[in-house]
Amino acid sequence: PQAGSVALGATNDNAAAAVPVQQQHRRLDGKVAIVTGGARGIGEAIVRAFVRHGARVVIADIDDAVGEALAAALGGACCSYVHCDVSVEADVERAVECCVARHGRLDVLCNNAGVLGRQAPPAGTSAGTKSGGIASLDAAEFDRVLRVNTLGAALGMKHAARAMLQRRGGGGGGSIVSVASVAGVLGGMGPHAYTASKHALVGLTKNAACELGEHGIRVNCVSPFGVATPMLVNAWRHGHHGEDEEGGAPASVSAEEVEKAEEMVRGLATLKGPTLRAGDIAEAALFLASEESRYISGHNLVVDGGVTTSRNVIG
Ligand code: NAD
Repeated sequence: PQAGSVALGATNDNAAAAVPVQQQHRRLDGKVAIVTGGARGIGEAIVRAFVRHGARVVIADIDDAVGEALAAALGGACCSYVHCDVSVEADVERAVECCVARHGRLDVLCNNAGVLGRQAPPAGTSAGTKSGGIASLDAAEFDRVLRVNTLGAALGMKHAARAMLQRRGGGGGGSIVSVASVAGVLGGMGPHAYTASKHALVGLTKNAACELGEHGIRVNCVSPFGVATPMLVNAWRHGHHGEDEEGGAPASVSAEEVEKAEEMVRGLATLKGPTLRAGDIAEAALFLASEESRYISGHNLVVDGGVTTSRNVIG
């Protein structure tokens, strides 16, 4: 395995994952799910949790090698991979079609794929500052981030809703869970485009919930605080708040970098004690995907140890 997957495997651990699957209530038995951005990081933890709870999962990602390896490791019968850039509508449509062709249905869509984006430091400061840079905003970069984080989720909702509506006679309903961020609730938590994209995603979730409720489809989002995934490690690798010059997150990160990022998150967190892990976000997504949340729709479940309540701001 890659250095990154070894290190991140540890970050995906949590108490629920440690309980043998036979002793757990399998909360997604018989369900079929798509997880975008499921090849690594938070998405990988969601894929693992969904499979552990009995779902058949299609990973939709752009990192084919990592996504295919994860699907193979989890077993072809319950997990498969499809290449899908969520910002390209034809890819999203094909991912949903593949899922329905393979499994006959779609019950759960998890819009997890996201990018942080790059941002120049504000005028007169060095590249060690958290955000800023509105005076030097790059329109193309702003557009790229919103295309992945917001339009990508909207396209997922569109094609998932179509598939869910088509099979309404055969069971009905469905659950759409998007991974937003505390940057979708507060300012000062990330680059401008990222913050705008996540606020928009929270709004989109509410609108889609209003519309799809009458068809029994629930739409919610989960908003994590900092999890030491490649995205976060990369943001802090060079001491600034955004992707590095090459763009994107690294394919692998070292155990030392993960530990350092977790230490920084613990320092910023309101709740002292536990370390927020990808598995914690997966548990929240699992709850919103399953029937245990059957009356919850249009909700943004923050998993932040009280950060948005105390209104801590990074930096
Ligand atoms: P990550 O960079 O570690 O993983 C992102 C995954 O998405 C990768 O597998 C990547 O290949 C995939 N991806 C990227 N662009 C894509 C595209 N256009 N189409 C399909 N797949 C694409 O990031 P992560 O930290 O695991 O983030 C997952 C989600 O959680 C994102 O939406 C992110 O904004 C959100 N989030 C992360 C944190 C954090 O601290 N890590 C905090 C709040 C919210």
